[in-house]
Amino acid sequence: MSLRGRTAGFILVVLAAVVPAAAQEQIATGDATVFQVQTISRGIHLFRPDRATGRHTNSLVIERRDGLLVVDAQPTKEAALDLLAAIRGVSAAPVRYLVFSHPHVEASGGSDAFPPEVLRIASRGYRDAVADPAFGYQSEWRAYRGIPEPPGSQEGGPEPQRRPVATLTLMGRTRLEDPLHPVVLLPIPHTHSPGDLLVYEPRAEVVAVGDLVINDRNPYAGHARVGSWISQLNQLLTLNPKTIVPLRGGAVDTTRVRNQRDALRWLKKQVEESLGEQVPAEKIPAAILGRAETDRYFNTAAAPSNLPLLVQQLVIEVRKERREQGLE
Ligand SMILES: [Zn+2]
Repeated sequence: MSLRGRTAGFILVVLAAVVPAAAQEQIATGDATVFQVQTISRGIHLFRPDRATGRHTNSLVIERRDGLLVVDAQPTKEAALDLLAAIRGVSAAPVRYLVFSHPHVEASGGSDAFPPEVLRIASRGYRDAVADPAFGYQSEWRAYRGIPEPPGSQEGGPEPQRRPVATLTLMGRTRLEDPLHPVVLLPIPHTHSPGDLLVYEPRAEVVAVGDLVINDRNPYAGHARVGSWISQLNQLLTLNPKTIVPLRGGAVDTTRVRNQRDALRWLKKQVEESLGEQVPAEKIPAAILGRAETDRYFNTAAAPSNLPLLVQQLVIEVRKERREQGLE
């Protein structure tokens, strides 16, 4: 063997020895106990934060023959290291795919903790949103904590944040074949955010939905189109999934989807009636949220409440519809 050959061989041996150790060391820094693991179906696990501190969110992990598919990357790199440590308690297989459900920091902020060879996947709406400096990637994170938006694009937040870019941008419904767990990736129209994407495993009838379905009856609508949100909840019902995994809280069934759809429909109707009765737009949120009936549909005691923003967004949408109908 030439000297050059021996040197190359030596380098390969060194790399083989160093890379796994470095990867293990990185994973060892995470705290696996932060997550409870709920096995929804064989090879499909919901990693859910043990306590609702807001520092962690849900991630869904699907064990495929070609490696693990993870839906949502946690809000920060630290939280994602906790997730990776917890995943190691379930499977030694490498993470192959990382799917971002939507362009909010809670869903993709921890992307950097995953090895660079993991294929990051998101919708076209995700790509456009994170590329837009005016888009509030951390707005929802701020809203839940009552932190005002900073001027311009200097966001601050859970950590100084670069916005993770997806390697694979989906332009439409895409299927990842697998003998164990085929997965259908479904980018949907602008709903909770401009880049929502559902991850559906048709054999187990499990779907990860990001923030399309919310558990706390206090939906954040800072980037929402509420009319389209109602339509897409109906579309989700046509899939008839057994298990729906939101970004926060436990897995739910279609009852929660129907309840949320009905709540948004009810709220839209209230806004339509208020505008029809010439109530000034700025008075509508307080008027509707003050009604006893609102408690049936929304958590009016949540602090901070996302509901005024939701009503304001509906006022904008309904006024646009009224103008199109020649009513304003
Ligand atoms: Zn969100």
